[in-house]
Amino acid sequence: MNILIFGPNGSGKGTQGDIAKEKYNLDHIESGAIFRKHIGGGTELGLKAKEYINKGELVPDDITIPMVLDVLSHSKSGWLLDGFPRSLVQGEKLWEALQKDGVKLDYVIEIKLPRDIAKARIMGRRLCANNPNHPNNVGIPVIAPDGDKCRVCGGALTAREDDQDEDAINKRHDIYYDDKTGTMAACNYFKDLKDGGFKYIQLDGEKSINEIKEYLVSQLD
Ligand code: AMP
Repeated sequence: MNILIFGPNGSGKGTQGDIAKEKYNLDHIESGAIFRKHIGGGTELGLKAKEYINKGELVPDDITIPMVLDVLSHSKSGWLLDGFPRSLVQGEKLWEALQKDGVKLDYVIEIKLPRDIAKARIMGRRLCANNPNHPNNVGIPVIAPDGDKCRVCGGALTAREDDQDEDAINKRHDIYYDDKTGTMAACNYFKDLKDGGFKYIQLDGEKSINEIKEYLVSQLD
């Protein structure tokens, strides 16, 4: 079982991806995490990638594409690929490689969320001092904090600094929502593939987490 997941930062991609990952016991292959591992290990690839990552830019394709394809080829239990492809070129190269290696893609999942809502959600995230898993978001009514306190336990809330960096959020969303050469272009490339042999599942990111989950589960065999 191999799955590709698309969704902008702030769309709940992690939460929904986990459902598919756990259902089929998949390797979670996340391009950003692979880079972070290389950086942590001080590898040559990590050193090269770091200069781009620190600027919030995409790491060049000649580094990224072979790195991701190599990790995919070593997966034994099947994969959930997240964070790749982020551009049309990466999408085309991925499809080409899968075809060449005879690897079946089973599902492509897209979480659709308007850009302004995605941004409000990221900027609205609040972190509980007692438990980081307590959901609090001033941008999502059903999990709005209790005044300035955690809605679950009443703990003190803070905002993560990087969640408040509007320039960084805009830069990421510029890449994601670019439907000419960016991530949306890659997403549309898969959506429009004829005879791709996979099921395309589109999720409405504006619905509640549980509604999205339920729909996703109903669509997976
Ligand atoms: P992420 O954890 O997905 O936010 O990725 C962290 C950083 O890694 C990104 O800001 C990019 O600099 C780099 N990166 C991750 N995935 C890709 C990709 N598919 N292509 C190019 N750069 C990437």
